[in-house]
Amino acid sequence: MNYQEVIDQQRQFFNTNATKDISFRIKELKRLKSILQKNEALLYDSIYKDFKKSEFETYTTELSIIYHEINSAISKVRKWSKKKKASTGLANLPGKSYIIPEPFGTILVIGAWNYPYQLSLCPAIAAIGAGCTVVLKPSEVPSRTADTMAKLINENFDPKVFKVIEGGVQETTELLKIKFDKIFFTGSVPVGKIIYQAAAKHLTPVTLELGGKSPAIVTKDVNIDMTAKRLVWGKFLNAGQTCIAPDYVMVESSIKDQFLSAVKKYIEKSDYNVDNQNYTQIVNDKNFDRLNDMIDQDKIYIGGNSNKEERVIPPTVLENVEFSDNVMQDEIFGPILPVLTFDSIDTAIEEVKKLSKPLSCYVFTKSSAIKKKILNEISFGGGAVNDAVMHFTEQTLPFGGVGDSGIGSYHGKYGFETFSHYKSVLQKPFLIEPNLKYAPYTPTKLKWLKRIIG
Ligand code: NAD
Repeated sequence: MNYQEVIDQQRQFFNTNATKDISFRIKELKRLKSILQKNEALLYDSIYKDFKKSEFETYTTELSIIYHEINSAISKVRKWSKKKKASTGLANLPGKSYIIPEPFGTILVIGAWNYPYQLSLCPAIAAIGAGCTVVLKPSEVPSRTADTMAKLINENFDPKVFKVIEGGVQETTELLKIKFDKIFFTGSVPVGKIIYQAAAKHLTPVTLELGGKSPAIVTKDVNIDMTAKRLVWGKFLNAGQTCIAPDYVMVESSIKDQFLSAVKKYIEKSDYNVDNQNYTQIVNDKNFDRLNDMIDQDKIYIGGNSNKEERVIPPTVLENVEFSDNVMQDEIFGPILPVLTFDSIDTAIEEVKKLSKPLSCYVFTKSSAIKKKILNEISFGGGAVNDAVMHFTEQTLPFGGVGDSGIGSYHGKYGFETFSHYKSVLQKPFLIEPNLKYAPYTPTKLKWLKRIIG
């Protein structure tokens, strides 16, 4: 396939101004929703074949989120794309000022593998809603979901509007040589740097949705049972292959034993097993080996008995973990939960801040002073107080990282903004034109200007 041709055709189409029409965008969004709804069985089947992700988790963590994004874009895109009034200063009266959201143009979306539908299609939905055309390069790792998205989109959309190009490193490298108007990337920090450098060559703006080690801090005054229940769910969903999963837990020393036994209780209650579809496989052998190497056999509190043939690592909790341990050096991105302890909240915050700014941070506490302190002192993309992962589902909250965990955000209105340029305009009538700013410059004019401007 000649990639340049695909992008040239999209750009030519964009330049016809057809996508500026809000009805056109709504029509395309409705088309996507209907294709997905009609092909749900195929979507479930493909992802199950890739890493045994169940229909339940695929609906709750992928399709429901996609439908929510489409529905809100359809109902709100007219409002989001309205020209917005701005105030006008004395110097420009009787003029008026306003801001027009305009689509960036032709977008490249590069997806990650862990939530392959949602992480590819939600940015595409936001881009189409904003009036852009989209080239989507899904992750090649879950190959059947990538094939399915390519089939459904390429058979049902005009390639001038929305086109899926499949491939891995080689194909993405070729695509990155071409100038896009914006690149939206979800993936790892090292690849994020490659994308940023390639984009810089064309001065292309980027949104980078990256990862990192997201902490959960648990103080002694919490409801231990509910804290463990929420953390176990957030950690072992999708077998821990979630960018915003709590990577590690720091629990106040005095409740460590009670906390660990509550975690064990909820792991057992959840009956995590790929055969009963309560659990998911590790996506491939490479990740299985990487994760298995992170498990320190001497520190296992529960779990650890991995099955390489099935690519299954059961929920594994490690205790007595130190920041110097192997498991604390990189993002885990799998079902291993290291539990560390702290005695002083200041030390806990200090330790978290020694690592890169995380994508998420979770604080479990009844103390409003500690909550305020953590929210004030730790920089992170987004997070929750007394919960984990669920902030992702709130479309009113921008989703994205900070520092090493990413640049930019999306979801709901924030997705629309990510793919829009806010064009500012000052408009003047031909009524009057004071001479004050014009040459010849005189001391009197300067005196008046200083008096007016201050
Ligand atoms: P990855 O960086 O390996 O791959 C992401 C995409 O980049 C894929 O489409 C892949 O084909 C492409 N790619 C890989 N190597 C490339 C290269 N050398 N040049 C050009 N393109 C290349 O990431 P992944 O393994 O798919 O996902 C795991 C990472 O993504 C984790 O760090 C996780 O935290 C992060 N993540 C972040 C979010 C978020 O929303 N912030 C969501 C999911 C995953």
